[in-house]
Amino acid sequence: MTDRPTTAPAPAGEQAPAAATRVLVLNSGSSSVKYQLLDMRDGSRLAVGLVERIGERTSRLKHTPLAAGGETRETNAPIADHDAALKAVAQELSRDGLGLDSPELLAIGHRVVHGGMFFTEPTVVTDEVIGEIERLIPVAPLHNPANLTGILTAQALRPDLPQVAVFDTAFHTTMPEAAARYAIDPKIADRYRIRRYGFHGTSHAYVSRETARLLGKAPEDVNVIVLHLGNGASASAVRGGRCVDTSMGLTPLEGLVMGTRSGDVDPGVVFHLARVGHMSMDEIDTLLNKRSGLFGLCGDNDMREIRRRIDEGDEEAALAFDIYIHRLKKYIGAYYAVLARVDAVAFTAGVGENAAPVREAAVAGLEGLGLAVDPQRNAVRAEGPRLISPESARVAVAVVPTDEELEIATQTYALVGKNT
Ligand code: AMP
Repeated sequence: MTDRPTTAPAPAGEQAPAAATRVLVLNSGSSSVKYQLLDMRDGSRLAVGLVERIGERTSRLKHTPLAAGGETRETNAPIADHDAALKAVAQELSRDGLGLDSPELLAIGHRVVHGGMFFTEPTVVTDEVIGEIERLIPVAPLHNPANLTGILTAQALRPDLPQVAVFDTAFHTTMPEAAARYAIDPKIADRYRIRRYGFHGTSHAYVSRETARLLGKAPEDVNVIVLHLGNGASASAVRGGRCVDTSMGLTPLEGLVMGTRSGDVDPGVVFHLARVGHMSMDEIDTLLNKRSGLFGLCGDNDMREIRRRIDEGDEEAALAFDIYIHRLKKYIGAYYAVLARVDAVAFTAGVGENAAPVREAAVAGLEGLGLAVDPQRNAVRAEGPRLISPESARVAVAVVPTDEELEIATQTYALVGKNT
């Protein structure tokens, strides 16, 4: 386990060192790094930013020092790799006195997409942890290598600081075998680690807990269906704070119709495209992951644009919307059956938080299940968690904004800060 620096008592007459209460959250993609620096005394954001197009001819760094007035600074210069990107981020943070060398920085929390069955909780990074994240690359070829690069780069910059990996899959490891297993030969499934892992776990964990708080109840007492509808989209059934089913599977391709992913298709479609369409595996992968979903159906993956086209009478956009809603409704019904008793349905992420027509259509006709949306409440635009079901509703329908960075920081702080 990485050693944390110990704080020696301050000699008499000198000021005691500031308590380390800041957590830097890094979300490293293949050519980008998103980051936030938070003060965990109150969860406030001190700085947020993004480095894009790493390794390309012109990269972009956008940095907003919220603690220092909040004026966004943008630099456009080539940034060769993640090492250079993180150094540039550290430099920006230093300009506002928030640098990586600050004694107030407690730890760095990393989003890691795939933790397999091994990681059920946030974990302090050690060589063993790095080895296991590496071993999971075959099941997350796009994400885990980028996440690892972020960890190794941060480790090189601050070897003395605890690095914490927070896994997208961890919240779903409580799923019972009946929900997590595919109906295929277990020997083959085990050999190739094929099972339903689920993703967006940090968001599902945060939103289910916030929904309980909105209802004024403890998470253990609440059953929630969480609908994380962003460009990627997933649903989960959460019983008493524990995930019992989720719509994404071995990869994020399964489940709901998404921005560019098909979600559920008959696996026979893949054989058909290979045998009859003579498409290669890579071509089919690209088709289903990048050129399907809303984008594949109507050429747009932004729900704002799709609604605008529907308002103008565009039939292609209307059909794409209907297919999206039909699938969503099926999952609400399925998870209602899985949970048996549902206290709340929570909408979150870009579409879930902003698209009132999606929320309305998703629960339309489900009054028999106790689900309804109050049109006035649904139309209100607001920042925080809010109820959109009528006062008398049997099941609460809510909009609960997600905050994956805060959740990563909270989990990191809970793991590392408790020893402070
Ligand atoms: P996310 O992946 O959570 O960042 O969500 C991104 C998606 O949210 C976009 O592709 C849009 O489809 C959707 N979105 C964002 N803002 C709005 C809005 N005001 N109305 C409808 N959809 C929105």
